[in-house]
Amino acid sequence: MIQQLSATPEWDICIIGGGATGLGTAVDAATRGFKTVLFEQHDFAKGTSSRSTKLVHGGVRYLQQGNIKLVMEALKERGLLIKNAPHLVHNQKFVVPNYKWWEGPFYGIGLKIYDWMAGKLGLGPSQFLSKEETLALAPTLDPEGLRGGIVYHDGQFDDARLAINLAQTAAAHHAALLNYFPVTGLLKAHKKVCGVKAKDHFTDKEYEIKSKVVINATGVFTDAVMNMDEPKHKQMISPSQGIHLVVDKEFLPGNTGIMIPRTDDGRVLFAVPWHDKIVLGTTDTPVKTKDPASLLEPVPLKEEIDFILTHIGRYLSKDPQLADVKSMFAGLRPLVKGSSKKTAALSRDHLISISGSGLITVTGGKWTTYRKMAEDVVNIAMEKNGLSQKACITRELKLYGHDQPAIPAALPGLPDERIQAMIKTAVQEEMCMTVEDLLSRRTRSLLLDAKAAMASAPAAATIMAKEMNRDNHWEKEQINTFNAIARHYLPAIN
Ligand SMILES: Cc1cc2nc3c(=O)[nH]c(=O)nc-3n(C[C@H](O)[C@H](O)[C@H](O)COP(=O)(O)OP(=O)(O)OC[C@H]3O[C@@H](n4cnc5c(N)ncnc54)[C@H](O)[C@@H]3O)c2cc1C
Repeated sequence: MIQQLSATPEWDICIIGGGATGLGTAVDAATRGFKTVLFEQHDFAKGTSSRSTKLVHGGVRYLQQGNIKLVMEALKERGLLIKNAPHLVHNQKFVVPNYKWWEGPFYGIGLKIYDWMAGKLGLGPSQFLSKEETLALAPTLDPEGLRGGIVYHDGQFDDARLAINLAQTAAAHHAALLNYFPVTGLLKAHKKVCGVKAKDHFTDKEYEIKSKVVINATGVFTDAVMNMDEPKHKQMISPSQGIHLVVDKEFLPGNTGIMIPRTDDGRVLFAVPWHDKIVLGTTDTPVKTKDPASLLEPVPLKEEIDFILTHIGRYLSKDPQLADVKSMFAGLRPLVKGSSKKTAALSRDHLISISGSGLITVTGGKWTTYRKMAEDVVNIAMEKNGLSQKACITRELKLYGHDQPAIPAALPGLPDERIQAMIKTAVQEEMCMTVEDLLSRRTRSLLLDAKAAMASAPAAATIMAKEMNRDNHWEKEQINTFNAIARHYLPAIN
């Protein structure tokens, strides 16, 4: 792929950012037949896109807010994604427990509307449950005062694995995608953006890449890239942090998740079965930092951890304690603050804007709607930047990837040959460059059990070093770097 950079005099579409939005855009552009290149400053999905609640959903919260259009769009995308990537997205049952008399009819009717809105792409009807039926599905719910519940369906997925599958799908359609390749500046001719400057992180070699269209898909880094275009532009993004705590399945055995539509301070709380663990979340905390390192590796705050433990404890017969937390991870929502005059809001959920020099920025939205965001931004790129018109084909496009049997969720406990084969695949076919890439996003070890991931880092480093022809010094440095990051995934227990 690096060779393609020198061999291609001009690209049609150059994408900055390798999260859900950028990778989705690369799939859309490449499958329409455009010459497409994507640069990611760190690893694919290192940003927000590996830190979601792992739901492919319409968003019950948006329904409560009355945002019908948004929910319908997301439910449609949910249905398409489950068809196009069945190996990574599955139908997940959730129980809404009812402790007050009005919750049954109120949430029951709301969820019937949710079913109806999904139409033919629905995943199964919601149903009212008796107390006994509710406890049969979620046996650890606190039985005291429980009146019954409602069961409904949504999608559940593995976000970082879907990101890798999107990169593979785009590559299979001749896109070039480079991780560890930050864009450091924009190229301009006659005051119009005509490409980017990008740097190979491992060699420091700089490249000037010409492209007819440049798309900024950098999530919470959106403003930094817009600054490269217009240093005095109005700030667009105000990040909001959400955290998750991961606990053992004993806190919610079985295959059904729990959704609490409204905690006492008005938030939605989920307990989601994910691999062999339960993900609890999330929070919504405005953050001010502009430090790029903390944007890439945000850290859960004590009050966020307390909030989740206290609130989920109110619904479970056995309250999870800090010592039960196997891993915790935080992500930053790229919330759109305001828009310039040139902004074209295509939906209330995501936003696409074009600067005076032609830089296209796409931001907001959610994982579930990445395909629609990509379709919209490539349509705009064709319209405004004079590319030939080509139809979008991603509604029916099967996503590449056969990784379900090959890639396990976590390393410990697997036979050696299986681990070796898996690491080989990650290095040779998935552009896995570091131990952190391997343990955080190729497998999900770090997010599932941080201590176990730290314990497996030395063995993983040795196998990777052999595969990548690296020395002992590299191994040690990789382990140290990984451990420094992984420590923040463990709660501080005194
Ligand atoms: C706590 C939380 C829970 C969520 N849960 C869900 C959920 O359950 N379901 C759902 O549908 N959505 C969910 N979302 C929303 C979803 O995760 C995000 O909308 C989505 O991941 C955003 O993707 P993105 O590509 O826009 O941003 P990112 O994933 O942040 O990608 C931007 C990328 O740009 C790269 N970049 C930045 N600057 C440069 C540069 N100069 N050069 C090259 N690369 C650069 C970054 O390294 C980063 O990888 C959740 C979000 C949060 C925060």
